[in-house]
Amino acid sequence: MPQQAKIHYIEPVIQKKEGDYDPFIEATLQFENAADYLDLEPWIYQRLKYPERELIVHIPILLDNGTAETFTGFRVQHSTIRGPAKGGIRYSPDASLSECKALASWMTWKSAVINIPFGGSKGAVICDPTQMSENELKKLTKQYINAIRDIIGPYKDIPAPDMFTNSQTMAWIADAYTQNGQLEPAVVTGKPVFLGGSLGREDATGTGLFYMLREASKYLDFPLADKKVVVLGFGNVGSSIAKLVHKAGCKIIAVTDIYGGIQSKKGIDPFALKEHVGKNGSIVNFPETVPIDNEGLISLPCDILIPAAVEGQINKNNADDIKAKIILEGANGPTTVDADDILKEKETLVIPDILANAGGVMVSYLEWVQNLQRYFFSEEEVLDKTEKKMKQAFWEVIKIMKDYKVSMREAAYILAVGSVAKTLRVLGRN
Ligand code: NAD
Repeated sequence: MPQQAKIHYIEPVIQKKEGDYDPFIEATLQFENAADYLDLEPWIYQRLKYPERELIVHIPILLDNGTAETFTGFRVQHSTIRGPAKGGIRYSPDASLSECKALASWMTWKSAVINIPFGGSKGAVICDPTQMSENELKKLTKQYINAIRDIIGPYKDIPAPDMFTNSQTMAWIADAYTQNGQLEPAVVTGKPVFLGGSLGREDATGTGLFYMLREASKYLDFPLADKKVVVLGFGNVGSSIAKLVHKAGCKIIAVTDIYGGIQSKKGIDPFALKEHVGKNGSIVNFPETVPIDNEGLISLPCDILIPAAVEGQINKNNADDIKAKIILEGANGPTTVDADDILKEKETLVIPDILANAGGVMVSYLEWVQNLQRYFFSEEEVLDKTEKKMKQAFWEVIKIMKDYKVSMREAAYILAVGSVAKTLRVLGRN
């Protein structure tokens, strides 16, 4: 039964000011809600509320034009209770410590929801990767890894790709970490396959999203064929899931990226769109479409909305305009706590990030296991293991959702926070 009583020991450190968006405040409010339901002991509550470690580094590099520039980077480890910390590295002009703290805690809960033996971490460098050459990005990556090398490692903290980093970045990381010429592939996941990467990793997050959408369609008795889909963000995650829903017979009627957006009543072919992005660097000007912006996309009449870009894009200013029945969270933290309240009222099924996009960390886990054993799985084995894990997590979350009469996000948090708390209790770390 739900335990509704407010816990009195939550000290008012985290206070949300009207109109402010702060990712770590959002993440903390989500955690506190679960802590409340679970009636957590104060020592566990305190332990899980704050990250274990926050590292800020300054990285001077020589740019191609001969000038020196110093970049600031972060690595935050929220938890190593259930295993080594695990989390991506993001390159973005908007990166911040608060964002890393939020993303690191979401990684802890994500690994716990699908029950893999990892904690959570996240890293970022404040930079504009779209304005940097390959050579500059390589130097930046290697210097960043040198700066954080003491706290990462195959049994400490294992980076992976996130926004504006990819398998090439991961290869540079593996090299930067290498000492005495001995390559240690298990220090990073999302590497190219020939360097010890896992088959299926490139599209893992999109594939996992699709598994979750398929289970949701069964749960709601909502067949996917002919459903109208909109996708916000068309990078690794957005393009992978767009291809899979297209193959399942859905019609993609709008897509946006950082440069703009496109809409078509007839439907957009994501395979052709991916080729267009390959040639032009953006979805903008894709033939036979008309422009649309993020707000227009979010409020379009459609069945499934897939945010696959940055945090906070579904918020109290637009949540009421959403017509979709299902929101499938490809991005981390795309929906604010205020928006969640509105969507709960509207009975929109929000498949929460910590479950929906966990396919990426699941295949990263398999990559790590393969690297440690120097033994590799077939793509079929990788997909099979991922599907089983994610399906099991989906139905566990649905059961908690019904038992506690909560939203799917609240249920996923109850499962995740409960599982980390149980580990702390049995380890006796009070
Ligand atoms: P990416 O860099 O490959 O793609 C990001 C996409 O979002 C690009 O199309 C970019 O143009 C677009 N975008 C950025 N800012 C935008 C804005 N303000 N409005 C509209 N579009 C915008 O990144 P990715 O790896 O696809 O990650 C996307 C999201 O998914 C992030 O929240 C990330 O944390 C999350 N995620 C990624 C993975 C993974 O395996 N890559 C796993 C889990 C979650």
